[in-house]
Amino acid sequence: MGTMHGQRIGETDVEGTGTEGNGVEESDQVRRFWERLGLPGLVDVHTHFMPERVLHKVWGYFDSLGPLTGGVEWPITYRAEEAERLALIRDFGVRAFTAMLYPHKAGMAEWLNGWAVDFARRTPDCLHTSTLFPEPGVETYVREAVEAGARIFKAHVQVGAYDPADELLDGAWGLLAEAGVPVVIHCGSGPMPGKHTGPEPIGRVLARHPQLRLIVAHMGMTEYEDFLDLAERYSEVRLDTTMSFTDFSEQFAPFPRRALPRLADLGDRILLGSDFPNIPYPYVHQLEVLERLGLGDDWLRAVCHDNGARLFGL
Ligand SMILES: [Zn+2]
Repeated sequence: MGTMHGQRIGETDVEGTGTEGNGVEESDQVRRFWERLGLPGLVDVHTHFMPERVLHKVWGYFDSLGPLTGGVEWPITYRAEEAERLALIRDFGVRAFTAMLYPHKAGMAEWLNGWAVDFARRTPDCLHTSTLFPEPGVETYVREAVEAGARIFKAHVQVGAYDPADELLDGAWGLLAEAGVPVVIHCGSGPMPGKHTGPEPIGRVLARHPQLRLIVAHMGMTEYEDFLDLAERYSEVRLDTTMSFTDFSEQFAPFPRRALPRLADLGDRILLGSDFPNIPYPYVHQLEVLERLGLGDDWLRAVCHDNGARLFGL
């Protein structure tokens, strides 16, 4: 990926909130996609809403070609105020989305979860999201979050730089498995490997908690096939499409064509994810590349709406 350094990828509008500043046209494109499929809208399990100063910090990482980007130039397409971003995702017809937030150190998760409670309260179409970190007290605040109505968790093994099989997390995983609350986990080694990314550490968690409803973010990029193995082995493991198959990601982490039949077979456990707003291309591109896989309209309906609707009882 070093070869990508400093290259400008794609043509996106860094400052605006859509392609060439034409948000209306873009939402029409998105709507045409799901209307053609006869869907009532989209369910997107991987979108980022978080306290503004945290989000601005994240954008700063992307701007500085930091560890989140693997040195790839990453112009954020939807760099806008929260209200504007919410209006846009609703214009797209995303009927349920998430507030993926995550700590990079101890002592932060509980505070983020407090913000998320408030955000969920004022944003009824957002699935109440929480997070966790290996630290004393994690089981307690995870239980509190579940009792407060959290419907999905986010864990970021790369940014948090922790072993997901850390024994401090064991009780929390057990609790989430029992409660059936899904966890979106960034545990693949894209765009940059971390000390504990890859299929092995999270595989140890699944061996202990085989019923844990893990949603492997980014299809497990870059270890796509290893994470398909895990999904085939554990019936509660799912994958989100976030950034996978896009022109952007294909340049440094191409999805192996030989694995396409496995995507078809796992069609009831693949969920639309986008990474909105932190994406270096328009939202509709994620949808177009899913269509481009050629797995058919039934597959698209399941992935872009029905699987998420079923999982969250929408
Ligand atoms: Zn993300």
